[in-house]
Amino acid sequence: MTDMMLELRGVSASYGAIQALQNVSLQVPRGSIVALLGSNGAGKSTTLNAISHLIEPSAGEIRFDGQSIGRLHSDEIVRRGLVQVPEGREVFKDMSVRENLELGAFLRKSSRKEIAEDFERVYQMFPRLKERIEQRASTLSGGEQQMLAIGRALMARPRMILLDEPSMGLSPLLVEQIFEIIQRLNREQGLTILVVEQDVRLALRISSYAYILENGELNLHGPSKQLLNDPAVRRAYLGV
Ligand code: ATP
Repeated sequence: MTDMMLELRGVSASYGAIQALQNVSLQVPRGSIVALLGSNGAGKSTTLNAISHLIEPSAGEIRFDGQSIGRLHSDEIVRRGLVQVPEGREVFKDMSVRENLELGAFLRKSSRKEIAEDFERVYQMFPRLKERIEQRASTLSGGEQQMLAIGRALMARPRMILLDEPSMGLSPLLVEQIFEIIQRLNREQGLTILVVEQDVRLALRISSYAYILENGELNLHGPSKQLLNDPAVRRAYLGV
């Protein structure tokens, strides 16, 4: 068993002529929360998509739990326990909450009993989803859709999740709630988390380590507490 749950070494990716990532290396220790930060277009989503193999990197190596996953189909990556949570807006809008959650378990060969247990676990984290189980996802609030996106990922019994902008479009109060849940998933279920986030202050508060991307390259990285107090980070990303 390796201490590193996820490791990227020299990963590059481009969209046609646009070089979106250049030589990105990062590590996520088992059981930790690591933040991936940077301004618009810095390459954060591209990094997550490269890890999940939704896009094909042009160079580099990606290892999950000690094994290279670069050649695996994205379904197989999910089966191994690495699950990407899209922005809440990307839930299946015409389906009910229940159907969305069931889809999360789809790739596993699970018994009815296991799926029932998974539903219970999701309800524990998100009682609101239980109350709205037959409701169409399109009628959920933005915060509830974000909860559903996370809940759907949990149905796959992940060991690690990749969270893309969980605060997107949410009111400050809901953002607090979602981040509290993210911390509980890490604390109570030992889930390893890589979180992409625009709210740099919040992301640095809940993570132990952070990487900052600029124009597709790593600019800075370090323990989150240290970055919170770093004058350059404060000026560039915290507006102080
Ligand atoms: P944001 O915070 O705005 O979501 P990001 O850091 O996630 O930004 P990416 O979405 O990874 O940034 O984009 C990195 C670069 O790649 C940008 O210049 C973007 O315009 C470009 N890009 C992203 N997706 C595509 C695509 N499908 N086709 C062409 N260019 C793309």
